[in-house]
Amino acid sequence: MTALPLTMQRGACPALSAPMMTGDGLLARISLVEAISPAQLADICRLALKHGNGMIDISARGNLQIRGLSKTSAPHLDADVRAMNLPLREGLAVEIPPLAGMDESEIADPRPLADAIREASHDITGLAPKMAVVVDGGGVLRHSDLLADIRLVAVGKHNWKLVLGSTEDKGFVFNVLRETLVVDTVIGLLKQLKGLGNKARGRDLARDLSVSETQLHTPPSSSGLSRKSTGVVTIDPSQMLGTSPSMTTRNAGSPFDLFALSDHLHAIGIGPAFGQARAEELIAVCDEATRLGIKSVKPALDHSLLFFGSENACRSLQDFAGDNGFVTSSTDPRGHIAACSGSPACNSATIATHEIAAKAAAECGDLLDGSFRLHVTGCPKGCAHPQPAALALCGTADRVSLIAQGKAADQPFAFASFADTNATLRRLADLVRSERRPSENSAACLARIGSDRLAAAATGRP
Ligand code: SF4
Repeated sequence: MTALPLTMQRGACPALSAPMMTGDGLLARISLVEAISPAQLADICRLALKHGNGMIDISARGNLQIRGLSKTSAPHLDADVRAMNLPLREGLAVEIPPLAGMDESEIADPRPLADAIREASHDITGLAPKMAVVVDGGGVLRHSDLLADIRLVAVGKHNWKLVLGSTEDKGFVFNVLRETLVVDTVIGLLKQLKGLGNKARGRDLARDLSVSETQLHTPPSSSGLSRKSTGVVTIDPSQMLGTSPSMTTRNAGSPFDLFALSDHLHAIGIGPAFGQARAEELIAVCDEATRLGIKSVKPALDHSLLFFGSENACRSLQDFAGDNGFVTSSTDPRGHIAACSGSPACNSATIATHEIAAKAAAECGDLLDGSFRLHVTGCPKGCAHPQPAALALCGTADRVSLIAQGKAADQPFAFASFADTNATLRRLADLVRSERRPSENSAACLARIGSDRLAAAATGRP
């Protein structure tokens, strides 16, 4: 068995064949491009018990992560998973929403474009390890909150909005393109990123293209975007539809629900609390799904698993999973917390994120109304929620920092001692409860209250 290329590089992805060192050993990622059977997922869990420490993460992007591997066991996991002939993703991450092609509310089916981009990008090497292309057909479950270097969003049956960097609403709107132009444009952008080096991301390209605000909101002239000095992306102006200020982003939607799909199929979304489960717990759910006649399952966004079957089977599995401690409802406060593995699983963590998050869910349910995701992170890297959050708790060397409307590494508005973390959060929740206006949600209330008053409440000052 050949040695694996281990990586400790910040920003790198712990792929199946290149696991990453964490606090509880090596972590390997299994990325699937299609659904698998519940029996196959149970087999992956058994491999996690055999080769790792039996802990499995479902990442925010819907990847499986096997934890607690050793240098000796990781190659065996790699070989055993590959022997299962699963639909593994190799190469560039080209991601589509989990209900793509089955969701009758979709504006357009993103699968053909995603397949074409995967195929055409096959030989483009040297991109940033976390490079991601999202192709979003605009259905009930969206990828709008996931970071993407290049994002395509259906805005008509054959028209796609192309956004560079960030989330859908914060990214740089490159243009709206006719479908016939999309693959060549994306490949051109990827080649441009390759030319900028293996650290370049979509946001760098956005800066490089530097289209003026005026150009963003008016159909481009014949000189168009290709007049920029970079010159790699050359688009026939007649194919560019311009952008409109009225083009709004629809909510991503919660996967923790029952979905009626085409052809009388249903899907139920369930997930382990804070995205992490013991293999035995997942095996029990998979075995029950198999017993109920459920044929397929997909790891999906927001640390969920979507099981596909009849309505009755899905409802029964929802009950079973709920009885066994899984998140099964969009109103479960645990589903509104993004917590990384934290201590002791991760070497970099200074706080037990899952413990803090579980207490927060139990004590601050009204704060966690689904309008924002509370970010609980073991260190400023912020793995569980790279985007800004309305409120974040971040472990540092000697205390916990509290950040409002920002990323984990941003300037804190206050600090709490390790022991006082949950009590501090309760004080903030009390403030939001007392200040909330009729029909105002927690996110809006937090933003309106502002950092100064949050800091006063956090420290218990009157
Ligand atoms: S954010 Fe959490 S999981 Fe990521 S490195 Fe820091 S402590 Fe570890």
